Amino acid sequence: MNGILDAFKLDGKVAVVTGATRGLGRGMAVALAQAGADIAGVGHAAEAPETAQAVAASGRRYAHIQADLAKLDVIPRIIDTAFEHFGRIDILVNNAGIIKRNDAIDFTEQEWDAVMDVNLKSVFFLCQAAARQFIRQGGGGKIINIASMLSFQGGIRVPSYTASKSGIKGLTMLLANEWAGRGINVNAIAPGYMATDNTAALRGDAQRNAEILGRIPAGRWGTPEDLGGAVVFLASAAADYINGYTIAVDGGWLAR
Ligand code: NAP
Repeated sequence: MNGILDAFKLDGKVAVVTGATRGLGRGMAVALAQAGADIAGVGHAAEAPETAQAVAASGRRYAHIQADLAKLDVIPRIIDTAFEHFGRIDILVNNAGIIKRNDAIDFTEQEWDAVMDVNLKSVFFLCQAAARQFIRQGGGGKIINIASMLSFQGGIRVPSYTASKSGIKGLTMLLANEWAGRGINVNAIAPGYMATDNTAALRGDAQRNAEILGRIPAGRWGTPEDLGGAVVFLASAAADYINGYTIAVDGGWLAR
């Protein structure tokens, strides 16, 4: 390694990115590819043409794995398929996530379980499966979980989302404690308010949009590209001594 910038390079690395079809997942997959990684993207959808194209434009390979992360039985296939395509796995980005909005007083078991299953339960078992793969192949690995402002704040009308994202922050610390000694770095990124399908309803509500924008010190919604620096950093050797931390990429939202 010649210098600090080389420590950020991901040449020869393989990243599994869940929810890579669109939004923040696509943005992070493309950033990882630009840094040198091949990408195994996971999504509901049968294919992810825009992500595949952008990864190819970076000179890297993209393999798509269709899977419903509401169920755990897809996890062995995700790891096996990524391994079959690329021969190793070095990075896991747990990005796929959903949100259900309803008053806490009316919130249903279905709304609770649907969010917890995708946002927290599958994330834990994917972390476990990836860590087993890292240990099998040797050389450690990097896990980056996608948290939220609601890992730090309570939010409103999103009880299962807040529970899941607060859980992500805690789980990230627990896994770091158990696996740091095995050369596996587990960290998280907490995006602020980002312009994706996930926030389309908020941005479409003129009053909520103005309230949110007025509270963001940077004065704009974030973009998928805004996560590129943090995800490449945490996936790289430059972050080898960072364990269990949740980095906010939020235009200053939490500083208010
Ligand atoms: P998005 O645009 O709604 O995209 C969600 C992604 O997750 C899609 O690729 C989707 O795949 C995938 N996904 C959802 N449920 C799935 C399932 N059951 N099985 C497989 N894939 C599934 O969301 P986003 O805004 O990019 O959010 C990505 C992550 O960032 C989420 O964890 C979210 O909670 C978090 N986050 C977002 C914001 C924000 O402001 N946008 C802020 C903080 C945290 P398909 O396209 O195939 O359905």
